[in-house]
Amino acid sequence: MSYKIAVIPGDGIGPEIVRQAQRVLDAAAARFGFELNYTSLLMGGASIDANGVPLTEETVAIAKASDAVLMGSIGGDAKTSPWYQLPPDRRPEAGLLGIRKALNLFANLRPAYLYEELKAACPLSDEVIGDGFDMMIVRELTGGLYFGERHTETVDGLRTATDTLVYNENEIRRIAIKAFEIARKRRKKVCSVDKANVLDSSRLWRAVVEEVAKDYPDIELSHMLVDNCAMQLVKDPAQFDVILTKNMFGDILSDEASMVTGSIGMLSSASLNETKFGLYEPSHGSAPDIAGKGIANPIATILSAAMLLHYSLDQDEAATAIENAVKQVLSEGYRTVDIMSEGCERVGTEKMGELIAARV
Ligand code: NAD
Repeated sequence: MSYKIAVIPGDGIGPEIVRQAQRVLDAAAARFGFELNYTSLLMGGASIDANGVPLTEETVAIAKASDAVLMGSIGGDAKTSPWYQLPPDRRPEAGLLGIRKALNLFANLRPAYLYEELKAACPLSDEVIGDGFDMMIVRELTGGLYFGERHTETVDGLRTATDTLVYNENEIRRIAIKAFEIARKRRKKVCSVDKANVLDSSRLWRAVVEEVAKDYPDIELSHMLVDNCAMQLVKDPAQFDVILTKNMFGDILSDEASMVTGSIGMLSSASLNETKFGLYEPSHGSAPDIAGKGIANPIATILSAAMLLHYSLDQDEAATAIENAVKQVLSEGYRTVDIMSEGCERVGTEKMGELIAARV
């Protein structure tokens, strides 16, 4: 089996961490007998420097023709980088929004997993942490409040702003299907989060999710109001497997869930469309403050590569081998600077990639 992977190294630490993720992917491909063919693409600041724009049609076309996209992170230091002297639609981040739109990536997946070895970084008490937690937030990414009509006007002499929250049943159905499919690869539980006691869009959300659930009798569905979910994430995070939610709620809850794991360099993410295609990237940014120093933690990108194997290539065994290799390296006491603790051995970006690849 052979797959086409578009690789967008990006800016800042992007190229350093993506190189290590490719190294680990190559180790997995060699062990599990498949082939990965990479095409490197420019986006963000690197594309501005080379092409004058953050995203070219060529990048979009090659990404579209691939089985999946692996990305580092894009952007620079907003205070010092000349990229941020450009108009907003020509800055690095415009490339990211543009490619998400062009590839119709409506489903955003953000796992929050607590590694036993990194428990000390978790801000929750030992009592709450218990045996740890492992959840996946599935957030609708291209509809809802962030994409509705908005305007500001003066009404009766008062400045008045309006944002609209619109979802149609098809938009809800397709993200619900994603969540149920993902739950099938996990512990088979979906908690749909809404505000159905107040919002019409949430009442429709709940109704459509229940309709979809009928096709997934093996999955346990529950509903939770978003305010309660925000509390439950810090009170009893272990209760969650897959959390399904709309754009704005997912934006807030996924940051909350990731912060309770305590370490930004460990958090992967995926954005998927209706097919198996997806774009995989770490949740963190391009960390310009440490770029080029060889100290960035590549694990978020390596775990994003594992998600790529799970969700776009269905190479579940290879993906699990990568996840286990990460656990093993942590349990052997190797740490990059951001997750360093007493008694552990500090390693750089490249060494961390090498250690994980060797254990795949
Ligand atoms: P950031 O996530 O890049 O960095 C925040 C802090 O975390 C920094 O101190 C950084 O050194 C550290 N950090 C981040 N990733 C790390 C890693 N893998 N290993 C070790 N330390 C790590 O956030 P920021 O500084 O607010 O943003 C920097 C740039 O990244 C900006 O241009 C921003 O727009 C961009 N950004 C891009 C994405 C993306 O590509 N999806 C996401 C967020 C931010």
